[in-house]
Amino acid sequence: MDLSPHTRAAFPALHQSVNGKPLVYLDNAATMQKPRSVIDALVHYYERDNSNVHRGLHALSMRATNAYEGARARVARFIGAAAPAEIIFTRGTTESVNLVAQAWGRAHLRAGDVVLTTQMEHHGNLVPWQQVARETGAMLRAVPLLGENGEGGLDLAALDSLLTPQVKLFAFTHVSNTLGTINPAAELCAKARAVGALTLVDAAQSAGHQPLDVRELGCDFLAFSGHKMCGPTGIGVLYARLPILENMAPYETGGGMVSTVTYEEATWKPSPERFEAGTPNIAGAIGLAAACDYLDSVGREKIAAHSHALGQLACERLAQLPGIRLLGPPAGVERSGIVSFALADVHAHDVVTFADEDGLALRGGHHCNQPLMHKLGLTSTTRASFSLYNSAEEIDVLVASLRRIQSFFG
Ligand code: PLP
Repeated sequence: MDLSPHTRAAFPALHQSVNGKPLVYLDNAATMQKPRSVIDALVHYYERDNSNVHRGLHALSMRATNAYEGARARVARFIGAAAPAEIIFTRGTTESVNLVAQAWGRAHLRAGDVVLTTQMEHHGNLVPWQQVARETGAMLRAVPLLGENGEGGLDLAALDSLLTPQVKLFAFTHVSNTLGTINPAAELCAKARAVGALTLVDAAQSAGHQPLDVRELGCDFLAFSGHKMCGPTGIGVLYARLPILENMAPYETGGGMVSTVTYEEATWKPSPERFEAGTPNIAGAIGLAAACDYLDSVGREKIAAHSHALGQLACERLAQLPGIRLLGPPAGVERSGIVSFALADVHAHDVVTFADEDGLALRGGHHCNQPLMHKLGLTSTTRASFSLYNSAEEIDVLVASLRRIQSFFG
């Protein structure tokens, strides 16, 4: 079912021209456009309820606190968490991973321990582990990818041999932001659990595009960003199981996260306050809750079916272009709405610059996946990423633009 006729009207930014052409926004993996209801929630908060949370007893502060804590409960429901206290608001996926690396990793990792990642990780779920491994003496290992275009997905046989009792954490992405691969996250979590390892799922590319339930996944930590799921920038989420959070030291310290303070020392509040030092992004959390409402009003099963079908269709159409190298799952294998490719003899930055003349928003570069690029023998790809408001007609625009680019460079 094509969702775009119903969803497009809700997104003001889609209704504009770029270089004299109707905007075709295919950069959803970088950030998504915002529906009117999210923009309205932000405006409503700033116009009516703006106040600091938790510390005030006046009307506006109570309204702001109720809205902020209501947003936490909404996000908990959105991902099937057992309690709102399992939801920590952060700036985004990157900060969520850093929080786990610093607050959990430093306390639990020792020399000889292993943090397992994969060859398709975004730098945001790799570099924080490199840092904490350096600090603790733990080792970093990566599950390899199969196929010269990454078409075989993660090597599950290699995973089995890498999952030794030394592995303390398996941190992996749910959906690859370059390949479009959807990893079998529940299966990966179960395998890690069998050797006693905790799991962190990077849900940056799944949270806004498919159903997400932490209890079905069986993960210990889950991280995602508001701006990639129709929400505001500067707000993100770390989910963690409560027993883990109860034993975790703070990440940052200061006001809001302490119970008692003397000149010499302080004691910590329980989660979630313990992990949210200082004034939080109140408006961002409220906007994120509005984004959860919006996505659920459309239906996440429907969103997944729509954007995955566009991903498939784009691959089929792009495969007909001469000299194109398509990355990720082969035709017929379920994939997300993310499609990456390399055109022979045309650099990705040229593709994106020329496509912009046709009103297209694409992304070219290494997509914060430099180790993956290295494995693929590339320095960059062009990426088109589809979401709930994109249409098959926009794939026509993409293909026509790429043909024009090829004839220019050809
Ligand atoms: N992980 C993945 C898979 C991503 O695609 C991204 C962003 O592109 C991130 C992590 C980092 O997200 P943010 O920049 O919102 O922290």
